[in-house]
Amino acid sequence: MTSRLNDPVRGLYCNRTLNMRRIRAIGYDMDYTLIHYHMREWEKRAYHFIKEGLQRDNWPVQELEFDPDLAIRGLIIDCELGNIVKANRFGYVKRAFHGTTALTFEEKRDLYERTLIDLRDDRWVFLNTLFSISEACIYMQLVDLLDEGRIGRSIGYADLYERVRRTLDEAHMEGRLKQEIIEHPEKFVDLDQEMPLALLDQKMAGKKMVLITNSEWSYAAPMLEYAFDPFLPKGMTWRDLFDISIVGARKPEFFSSSSPAFRVVTEDGMLREQSGLLEEGKVYVGGNAALIERTLDLSGEEMLYVGDHLFVDVNVSKNVLRWRTALIVRELETEIETLAAFADSQDKLAEMMERKEGMEAEFSALRLRVQRMKEGYGPVSNGSIESLEEKMRELRQRLVDLDSEIAPLARTSGTLMNPNWGTLMRTGKDKSHFARQVERYADIYTGRVSNFLHHTPFVYLRSHRGSLPHDDVVEREFAPDALEPLR
Ligand code: IMP
Ligand code: MG
Repeated sequence: MTSRLNDPVRGLYCNRTLNMRRIRAIGYDMDYTLIHYHMREWEKRAYHFIKEGLQRDNWPVQELEFDPDLAIRGLIIDCELGNIVKANRFGYVKRAFHGTTALTFEEKRDLYERTLIDLRDDRWVFLNTLFSISEACIYMQLVDLLDEGRIGRSIGYADLYERVRRTLDEAHMEGRLKQEIIEHPEKFVDLDQEMPLALLDQKMAGKKMVLITNSEWSYAAPMLEYAFDPFLPKGMTWRDLFDISIVGARKPEFFSSSSPAFRVVTEDGMLREQSGLLEEGKVYVGGNAALIERTLDLSGEEMLYVGDHLFVDVNVSKNVLRWRTALIVRELETEIETLAAFADSQDKLAEMMERKEGMEAEFSALRLRVQRMKEGYGPVSNGSIESLEEKMRELRQRLVDLDSEIAPLARTSGTLMNPNWGTLMRTGKDKSHFARQVERYADIYTGRVSNFLHHTPFVYLRSHRGSLPHDDVVEREFAPDALEPLR
């Protein structure tokens, strides 16, 4: 096995210091955490079932087709206006689509200039997981149909979203979609043969291992068997990895409720209510997080929960229980690679922007001098108003020329990762709203679970220093090698 310890694509990135030696139990979500899907394949099928559901009610969706690039994780649906937007860390809208059409800068400004997104408001729906892509895609397409008057007049953008949501819920719950996945896992599952070893290392290092998935037993069992059993030591199955397994967990309520647990007593899923603490080595349906803590005699900060759903798996588990949290962000791998490939152009862009800022400052200084000369106040300036204005004209032309050099690079930079939305973690130079949520709720984040393997169960992850707007100046002006040598 080659060491991936220093491979940035396989890093564990740390927002808040986490000493893995202090962690006594590790909880794992299943879908898109322990089991990664080929998103385009899975979502295409989910989309198909949503479409089928709408067709049953005679909606004119016949010619619609799934477009996996229409939306990315971390976008926000604006149910009031039928838009989908990308916001920065403060909640300001930086890009927006109405239906499947991008809004111009002016349209976006007119609609959102005074709006700060607050995800607690029902108006906004955050795309938390890769399971959200089909839903966002069909919503955008349906907004177009609604605007064309092809869907009944009495329905609004918010009702439309509710309808999509309900139909997608049905598709996930009804069974045919899951049955397809169970029958052809090789088409849908992106296997990671290193993952079972990562979990085995943790178990052997003395951590209690817990599975907490919303997936039901009839789905979770065959999927885990497919993804784990062939890669575990002979005679061992996924069941032996987990001290407690919870399926049908009903997260996020799982974290705050006192719902009873039902033990799965037969392979075909017969249940018996559990009274008192859970028993190790058993599988349960339902239950609640407090019961896990009591069973394992843990306090919140001794439990690390690893999941892919930004709200359910990390926001709620941290807010309600103060569990330590790890977010799985598979897109991070391509994002890091893409940004690395663009690094030289990014440097060039930064250099040009710095030059532009200098020229703008020069222009403003000239303008102020002209203003003072014209109004007859302030310090006396050399040169005539005409010569200063001539300099300003020259400078303006050079700025226009520089802008035309900047524009194509800036455009490319804005379409890295996705032609419509750019990268996951940034909007322009700023952090995206998604990145901000990650920073707030995930103690660590990483591309995939097997990255724990390369960092061992004993790793001490220290948070990085973080940056503030004045850091650059401090580094540039006051760094030891920037100071005058002592004589
Ligand atoms: P987990 O990530 O292991 O907790 O499992 C997620 C489960 O929730 C999977 O069984 C998905 O099919 C299901 N799921 C994901 N998105 C939706 C949804 O929008 N409606 C209903 N079920 C969903
Ligand atoms: Mg999940």
